[in-house]
Amino acid sequence: MKERLFTPGPTPVPEEARLAEAKEPIHHRTSRFEKIFSHLKEDLKYVFQTEEEVIPLASSGTGAMEAAVVNLLSPGDKVLVVVGGKFGERWAEICSSFGIEVISLNIEWGNAPSPSLIQEFLEKEKDIKAVFLQLVETSTGTRYDVESIAKICSSTPSLLVVDAISGLGGEPLYTDRWKVDVVVGASQKGLMVPPGLSFISLSARAWERVEEARLPRYYWDLEKARKSLEKNQTPYTPALSLLCALEESLRLIKEEGLEKVFLRHKILARATQEGVKAMGLELFSSSPSQIVTSIKVPEGVDEKALRQIMREDYGAIIAGGQGKLSGKIVRIAHLGWMDRLDILSVLSALEIALHKVGFPVEPGKGAGAGEEIFEDMEAIKILREGKN
Ligand code: PMP
Repeated sequence: MKERLFTPGPTPVPEEARLAEAKEPIHHRTSRFEKIFSHLKEDLKYVFQTEEEVIPLASSGTGAMEAAVVNLLSPGDKVLVVVGGKFGERWAEICSSFGIEVISLNIEWGNAPSPSLIQEFLEKEKDIKAVFLQLVETSTGTRYDVESIAKICSSTPSLLVVDAISGLGGEPLYTDRWKVDVVVGASQKGLMVPPGLSFISLSARAWERVEEARLPRYYWDLEKARKSLEKNQTPYTPALSLLCALEESLRLIKEEGLEKVFLRHKILARATQEGVKAMGLELFSSSPSQIVTSIKVPEGVDEKALRQIMREDYGAIIAGGQGKLSGKIVRIAHLGWMDRLDILSVLSALEIALHKVGFPVEPGKGAGAGEEIFEDMEAIKILREGKN
């Protein structure tokens, strides 16, 4: 049976990227590598929407989160961390383990932080060195208003550090225009590459902070990485095969056009949301992202059995809840290399599985609602003109 990933990472990888990854690795201390790397640098800037360098690292996304912390801060520094899910918790854990004083802005999981609350914190606590949050809190499927929060932070000395690991390449993010200081990403989500690469970009004022920051670092030394990048090199052996896959994926994103990529995600999200609502289910997030939809598990439904049926009978792999949301929600990603038929198929699989676990749902209701969104003329036009 064909397996299909509807998880918010890893996500499906296009054939072009898979084939590039399968080639014999080239050596990295060669002009051939340097040429590839110089193209990659430009394409990464496009996806990050920044004129600053984007540094690729050989790690999963958490590695780049740690790189942000150790390069920006000194022992005893105070930071504000938005904790609205598992990945907000991760920022707090990383900071705490390096002796940083963490003020947690705890919000109810599934909600987005109010920008004015962040403003109040920054006005009250003048010595907050940085604000840490997510673009999309993947564990709850919630989009945060990074644009408004960046506006607030950029008029204070506090840096804004955004974990865009899941959102990058799916949820709009304009790093320079919005004045976001630090953006962290990873390969296995919207960038349509297998896991193993992470990325980080820093604004000019964040680079100034790197010079002052005193936390210990070696592998994650971003100054060292930046100096190598000037020569189209990396300080240590890069994840060569993954970078070759990335070259292809970024080419596909550029061909489609970033704005079109964002619109495609928006339409796929809309169809997913309308589809699940038509099945009689409820969305979990009060600020749903366009890359993953979180759905409340109805009373009496065995969430594990539901996902098992989808996986074993239909090869559709969706995600469960994490941490305290385990068993309470399921999550369907519409992220990266995805099109309309992917969404109609996952809605159908969900519908059938719900029926099998005893939840009353009329056959075709959910997929039908999705089809209606896709048949909207505007949506058709956008999706036809894009590559998908
Ligand atoms: N932050 C967010 C928002 C994520 O979605 C993830 C992965 N799901 C991570 C951090 C952690 O990334 P990784 O598993 O690649 O270390």
